[in-house]
Amino acid sequence: MAEITPIEYVKGIGPRRAERLKKELGFFTVLDLFEYYPFRYEDRSRFYKISELTAESEKVQLIGEIRNLNVTGHGRQKRMTAVFRDETSAISLVWFKGIDYFKKNITPGVKYVLFGKPSNFKGTLNFVHPELEPLTEAKLKKGAQFQPVYNSSEYLTKLGLNSKGFEKAIRNAFIEKHHEISETLPEYFRKKYQLINRKQALKNIHFPESLDQLQKARFRLKFEEFFFIQLQILNSKHFKKEASEGFVFSKVGEHFNNFYKNKLPFELTGAQKRVVKEIRKDTASSKQMNRLLQGDVGSGKTMVALLCMLIALDNDFQCALIAPTEILATQHYETLAEQLEGTGIKIDLLTGSVKAAKRRVLHPALESGEIHILIGTHALLEDKVKFKNLGFVVIDEQHRFGVAQRSKMWKKNTRPPHVLVMSATPIPRTLAMTLYGDLDVSVIDELPPGRKPIETIHKYDRDRLGVQGFMKREIAKGRQVYVVYPLIEESENMDYKDLMDGYESITRDFPPPKYRTSIVHGKMKPEHKEYEMQQFASGKTHIMVATTVIEVGVNVPNASVMIIESAERFGLSQLHQLRGRVGRGAEQSYCILITGFKLSADGRTRMETMVRTNDGFEIAEVDLNLRGPGDLLGTQQSGLLDLKIADLAKDNKILQYARNAASELLKADPKLEHELNKPLKRAFLQFQKDRPDWGRIS
Ligand code: ADP
Ligand code: MG
Repeated sequence: MAEITPIEYVKGIGPRRAERLKKELGFFTVLDLFEYYPFRYEDRSRFYKISELTAESEKVQLIGEIRNLNVTGHGRQKRMTAVFRDETSAISLVWFKGIDYFKKNITPGVKYVLFGKPSNFKGTLNFVHPELEPLTEAKLKKGAQFQPVYNSSEYLTKLGLNSKGFEKAIRNAFIEKHHEISETLPEYFRKKYQLINRKQALKNIHFPESLDQLQKARFRLKFEEFFFIQLQILNSKHFKKEASEGFVFSKVGEHFNNFYKNKLPFELTGAQKRVVKEIRKDTASSKQMNRLLQGDVGSGKTMVALLCMLIALDNDFQCALIAPTEILATQHYETLAEQLEGTGIKIDLLTGSVKAAKRRVLHPALESGEIHILIGTHALLEDKVKFKNLGFVVIDEQHRFGVAQRSKMWKKNTRPPHVLVMSATPIPRTLAMTLYGDLDVSVIDELPPGRKPIETIHKYDRDRLGVQGFMKREIAKGRQVYVVYPLIEESENMDYKDLMDGYESITRDFPPPKYRTSIVHGKMKPEHKEYEMQQFASGKTHIMVATTVIEVGVNVPNASVMIIESAERFGLSQLHQLRGRVGRGAEQSYCILITGFKLSADGRTRMETMVRTNDGFEIAEVDLNLRGPGDLLGTQQSGLLDLKIADLAKDNKILQYARNAASELLKADPKLEHELNKPLKRAFLQFQKDRPDWGRIS
């Protein structure tokens, strides 16, 4: 390989700038400069008409004539205005500086090319200090139809590396050092996947010759970025046969058949049936299953999990179901215990608040195989929780569990049990594939029949009286109501005060004995929480005031109104989760979002999205666009999503394409030993050095 030029020896950089570039951007060689992509382009490839302009227009180019030059005011008030006119319309131009110069140099009645971003002044558009060039001169200039625009920092700008400075340095680097760019994808491969070569791609990403070339360059570079990530995921241990040998569930027997014939409380939806089949197929093969089941809130994931657990039991394996909260674990336990009554299947519950005396009975019963299904929280992960023959693990609401925690379950048998992780926070497929690349994905995309879509309404604080009236009418019809308050950790004490104030005012406005109100929050003792939940679930209380502890999974079909206080403080996926607590029965359900009158642009988008759609996937996409993928998963993982050019929210198709390519490559040449794949292997090794192990993030 050619020697790579250190950044300080690139023409126009030098030691001072190099030092700063190392510090701020981690640039060490000329290659880093080549990979410093413009974040947008000024499009000088086409001319706009004045009539096409809007307040949102970016920088545009126009052709027209200038008339009515007019200087007004004195001193600091001095300004010059003019009218720019093309065949569609006219727009005014304004100068506050350089007035004498422009006045002398602008010739009215001559055709000019104008370049600038229109601004909105009191409702009408104008241009302030536009760039102007007589059309005849502009015509003579060649190239540079797309002007690259680079990010810079204050300090780098001071050193001359503003956007134009970067452009110049990169242009020089191309002239002198382009031979240092090495190809990472072999020719046969580029042909197969229709990718332009790397040098051409880099050249055109900075200095596009045409829109077509720019698109090809983008495609190639995005593809490459996804491709190596996918290659790493697919190449990781989980994907290799040896590491993922699993238990074989060869038959479907009595437990499953009995339940299906005699106990199933409803007809399965098509989607539920499909997913059960997918899991059945996985567990009958000799590979260990790692499957992510995504299904919107209320789509009936629990029944799918139960049916699959019954198949495990039919093959003499034990099962575990892990939920993130005690409330949820308890509820799963109760639901399943009821559904399995009379089947002879023994299930039990293990959470942090299970007393030592009970544990002394539970542990041996689990180790002897007497307990068939164990449901619980994190408590279940502890090393002292041992099974006789654990074969199937269900993890509910997986986004709350870390990798390390999950992998603990793998060690609870001689081979790792099959794992089904269920999530009601639909992760956009793109993100799922990148982050959970080692998981197969199933989707329940169908709600049980008879559900009426939840109606969502956005109200302001001042509409509270109306909301109360509505609550009373719904309660009179026999329905129940949730009222949820935000509880964000940093402001915990204030939030508790809000919650308690809210609770007090509700008990004032909804006085007992006519109305009964429950309260649940994280500071309560588990047994109190459970008691209150029980009161509400059994219909003894009408209103449940709570924090987001009820966000996950809780199922009270008779509750048909969800009121979310300070809704602007919640993220979209949380709002959607909360809304999913209602709409579980046959009655029309409502979600009322209460916010302050002043909302940020983001806040407004969140409310509007909630009102517009009930589709969890659509909401997840909006969320991804609003917050970026890093935020969506918590800051911990954000660094992993540090993509240079590809966009997880938008480049779905390229990701799929790159994943297929990676998969085909590994099939044809699992160890990348083929002579032709040499450059690819070299690039892959380099990539792995620079990146964390993506395959392990799940
Ligand atoms: P989630 O996917 O959010 O975990 P659940 O499994 O809690 O949803 O199911 C929500 C409700 O829908 C439960 O009361 C469940 O009994 C019911 N349910 C599930 N599947 C069906 C179905 N096929 N037909 C009717 N009701 C169903
Ligand atoms: Mg659930």
